[in-house]
Amino acid sequence: MNVSPSEYFQRQTTVPEIGTAGLEKLRKAKVTVVGVGGVGATIADFLARCGVGFLRLIDQDIVEPSNLHRLIGVGRESLYRPKSEVVASTISKTNPWTRIEPVVETLRPSNVVELLGEVDLIIDGLDNFRTRYYLNRHSLEKHVPYIFTSAIATQGHIGVFAPPETPCLACAFPSVADRLEENCETLGIIPPVVGIVGAIAASEAAKILLGHSTKLSGGLLTVDMAGPDFLLSRVPRRDDCKACGVARDTSNPPQGTLTILCGENTFNIVPPEPLSLDLRTILSSLAQATILTEAHSLLVYRTAKLTVSVFKSGRLLIKGADGEHEALSIASELWSRVSPESSLVHEAV
Ligand SMILES: [Zn+2]
Repeated sequence: MNVSPSEYFQRQTTVPEIGTAGLEKLRKAKVTVVGVGGVGATIADFLARCGVGFLRLIDQDIVEPSNLHRLIGVGRESLYRPKSEVVASTISKTNPWTRIEPVVETLRPSNVVELLGEVDLIIDGLDNFRTRYYLNRHSLEKHVPYIFTSAIATQGHIGVFAPPETPCLACAFPSVADRLEENCETLGIIPPVVGIVGAIAASEAAKILLGHSTKLSGGLLTVDMAGPDFLLSRVPRRDDCKACGVARDTSNPPQGTLTILCGENTFNIVPPEPLSLDLRTILSSLAQATILTEAHSLLVYRTAKLTVSVFKSGRLLIKGADGEHEALSIASELWSRVSPESSLVHEAV
């Protein structure tokens, strides 16, 4: 049975603050969500339901069994498939009026401008500050508003930054070093937290796109479901901020093979330049492995010790390696098997 957009959005356009003119604004809006785990997927889902016309969903990971409890609408049939593609397809089923572009890639300095693109708003559903600082820098340089979120255990944070009118993320969180002992893998996460953080962030996003004011602009909202407690604090502008202050750092990080530790023993290895791997060649050499996913752009296999995701671009997610050295050896061996000239110029971050 067909449903028209006017029927679908009728209850929202009835809200006086939105109306049909507001819906039209939202339909013309473009938003990039970086990180579509529980929070990012919730944000994207709500924004599509609000009528946002274009969503780019960037995520480097695949769906793992421990993700399913907080990915609304995503079932076991999506295991080991790229998260951004799974979330895009899930949302498209109920929201045919939003154009959704999934991107399966690691956001880094060399591709941040290309991947974030010309959008009206950047939203962060990430789990690390290294990438958040790239988003913040882009927000500062391009004057694109940026919504920060985080969720862990029973707590969540939402911040709205639109520099130069407001302070930036680094004013609120200067020089945070990501600590692996403080992530969802070790501290856990309850599904209602991703729901409330995602819902508030989506609501803030819609207000920004509609041009409405918000108390969260230049502020940080902390939610703790244990109370529940809600604390809204102002972020002071820091003159010594490394991102927006007078002595800001404008240097570019060196290029090379990128090794990112994500989780206790999971390594994301990014080649210095994108490759174009023939995944069938790799598949044919894996007689002893269990194949979990076999698709045009992704191969996921498991050996006795490792779960390895091989992306066509040459990027690898290696789970179960005993250290960076072993992960890099596996990457180097795989790349040379299908692309002998690829080199290992190593840069750890
Ligand atoms: Zn700042």
